[in-house]
Amino acid sequence: FKKIQRKKGSKIEDFYEFGHEIGRLTTITSGAFSVVRHGTHKESGEEVAIKAISKQHVSEADMNRFTREIEIMKKLKHKNIIQLIEVFDSQDYLFLVLELVRGGELFDKIVDRGQYSERDACNLVRQIVSAVQYMHQHGVCHRDLKPENLLCSADDEAEQFVRIADFGLSKIFEGGEELKTACGTPDYVAPEILECKPYDTSVDMWSIGVITYILLCGFAPFYADTHHELFQKILDLEYDFPEPEWSGITDNAKHFISQLLVINPTERWSASQCMKHPWLAENKEDKQLKS
Ligand code: ADP
Ligand code: MG
Repeated sequence: FKKIQRKKGSKIEDFYEFGHEIGRLTTITSGAFSVVRHGTHKESGEEVAIKAISKQHVSEADMNRFTREIEIMKKLKHKNIIQLIEVFDSQDYLFLVLELVRGGELFDKIVDRGQYSERDACNLVRQIVSAVQYMHQHGVCHRDLKPENLLCSADDEAEQFVRIADFGLSKIFEGGEELKTACGTPDYVAPEILECKPYDTSVDMWSIGVITYILLCGFAPFYADTHHELFQKILDLEYDFPEPEWSGITDNAKHFISQLLVINPTERWSASQCMKHPWLAENKEDKQLKS
């Protein structure tokens, strides 16, 4: 993308053609919501994704925080993070122009495939950890890592990749208290967040532990019929590696997961530590891997 210089007060409609809706409509707290649509840059024909975030009911303080976070995001460049190209502001909406990813959500791929071979899972997880390491080094926490926010390359693309979307944005509107009651699933949420304790970037590492688990066996480590029971299982670290689904999976993979599903955030492995874990470090060329 060539850098597009945006003058203050310029309208997104002057630069981009809006297309069909891509993302589902998500309700964030306090009535704020966002919609993602396909877009085309009028001059270059470049295709993009445009995320429109309603500013209704968003306080000025939240908006300022949001704007600061966006400035950081614009500076981040990593092949496994969706690039924020530019931002437009109107009275009612904030528009984020994003690099378009064509293969859809990892969520849908998991649903289709059931589970991933160890080699494929390892490949995906390494990309995710590498991107998260980069973000954390820049002081940014994702807070909402889950397969819906991991976007994949299309099957026919030369290089298979996963890119992280939705970085540090929607959660800015949410206080810790509200997260508890948010309609979203707590499946991927670190215990310290559920307990409304202060938290840091290690919450992302918990989520990566859950995602890795799901990729390898096709179901979640913590499961219950009600949110209340689910909270309790997470807080008690009540999970295991049941047979037969886990019988063909290496101890390295299980060890990796168990360094992330750790209640104490200071003992949970960081992204940098994970990159050195044998499961990620030594298995680049599908050696030793059962797949
Ligand atoms: P929300 O806050 O609504 O979760 P996201 O940024 O996660 O917003 O976007 C919602 C959905 O829109 C994603 O899960 C994905 O399906 C789609 N989407 C978002 N950004 C892109 C993109 N850059 N390219 C393709 N699809 C995208
Ligand atoms: Mg999302």
